[in-house]
Amino acid sequence: MARHLVFVGGGHAHMTALLKCSEYVQRGHRVTLVSPDAYHYYSGMGPGMLSGIYRPRDIRFNIRKMAGDRGASFIEDRVVRVDPARRSLMLQSGKTVSYDVASFNTGSSVPAGALSGAVGGSGENVYPVKPIINLLKARQRILEALSSSSSPGALDIVVIGGGPAGVEIAANAWRLVHDNGGAARITIVAGKRLMGGLPEKVCSLVRQSFLKRGISVIEGLRAERVEKDTVLLSGGGELPFDIAFIATGVRPSSLFRDSGLPTGKDGGLLVNDRLQCVDYPELFGGGDCISLQGHDLAKVGVYAVRENEILFHNLLAALEGGTMRRFEPQKTYMLIFNMGNGKGILWRDTTVLDGRLAFILKNYIDNKFMKKFQVSGERKETG
Ligand SMILES: Cc1cc2nc3c(=O)[nH]c(=O)nc-3n(C[C@H](O)[C@H](O)[C@H](O)COP(=O)(O)OP(=O)(O)OC[C@H]3O[C@@H](n4cnc5c(N)ncnc54)[C@H](O)[C@@H]3O)c2cc1C
Repeated sequence: MARHLVFVGGGHAHMTALLKCSEYVQRGHRVTLVSPDAYHYYSGMGPGMLSGIYRPRDIRFNIRKMAGDRGASFIEDRVVRVDPARRSLMLQSGKTVSYDVASFNTGSSVPAGALSGAVGGSGENVYPVKPIINLLKARQRILEALSSSSSPGALDIVVIGGGPAGVEIAANAWRLVHDNGGAARITIVAGKRLMGGLPEKVCSLVRQSFLKRGISVIEGLRAERVEKDTVLLSGGGELPFDIAFIATGVRPSSLFRDSGLPTGKDGGLLVNDRLQCVDYPELFGGGDCISLQGHDLAKVGVYAVRENEILFHNLLAALEGGTMRRFEPQKTYMLIFNMGNGKGILWRDTTVLDGRLAFILKNYIDNKFMKKFQVSGERKETG
């Protein structure tokens, strides 16, 4: 029997299912992708786009074309509510879409509003690091400021958040300024400790790299609030800025809680090891927007990437019947940080490697992922 499969969000975990979605269509099913944007940006290369190592077209997928070329419909809109009783999705535009099976890959965002109430979370010069398109806007803003005669002298760039994303942003903002012959005072406000949660060796390599380049690190203090052009610190200090980034961690949107669906403690859709919602077997999900029952997974793309094949297979099983596959998250994973100076820092479990080779490996792995899913002529586009 022909059924309607709806993909909500075309993120990292939906890539395989979108690439192979003609397999659903050829079996007579109707497939729709709902996404607020025709493009999805690969976050692992986002900091490299900020610095200019990569062009926007190098790091994005044309998901509208990818779906359309394979027989699916594309709706440019955002899902704002799910009505599981009616099997219906409400869109921001006011329209509704009904489904037989739906899969969510709506990702996560930086809850910047709490910190920057005064500037609405993304005031003119304040950039939460997600969505990744913000990094392109910040790049343009920094280039403008560097070439403007009305802002002579060094730019003040403040990065709030000392985790992997904040570190990569500070490192790549340095490269952007450096490559364009400008000057900037770059400061990272790291909270308790730079790269907290990662081994001290990783942290000290980052500190050394930043020290050599004059990037200041503030540890033991938090940003309390972001005003128009000043960050207010715990302890009473103030940091003026021309450009600020907010990298204080991510969380799924309130979509699932607002819809009364079962959620984990961070508000992600609660799914079992088949990536299937625990209360509604026709709902699935992957990536940062889910909470996997019995696990507390870090919000890293590594899991989203591994969920691809499972989602593709289990969605077909949900449409037609058949055995579902189980997702077992790996216990350890590798992260490589792009330090913006041609070098990387690789971390996996007890292994730490620092230098050019680490960046070459990251660049290879990231480009391999891009090559697999950039099937719509993205590299020939402009931008
Ligand atoms: C700067 C930075 C660098 C990072 N680098 C790495 C790295 O090197 N390695 C790593 O493993 N992890 C990295 N991460 C973590 C990584 O970004 C996330 O784990 C990853 O993006 C999760 O993928 P996702 O597809 O679930 O979500 P997202 O990438 O957030 O994608 C979600 C998609 O859903 C769409 N969407 C959102 N809401 C809706 C809605 N309501 N309706 C329809 N569509 C919607 C969005 O437009 C988007 O296309 C990095 C994060 C940041 C911020």
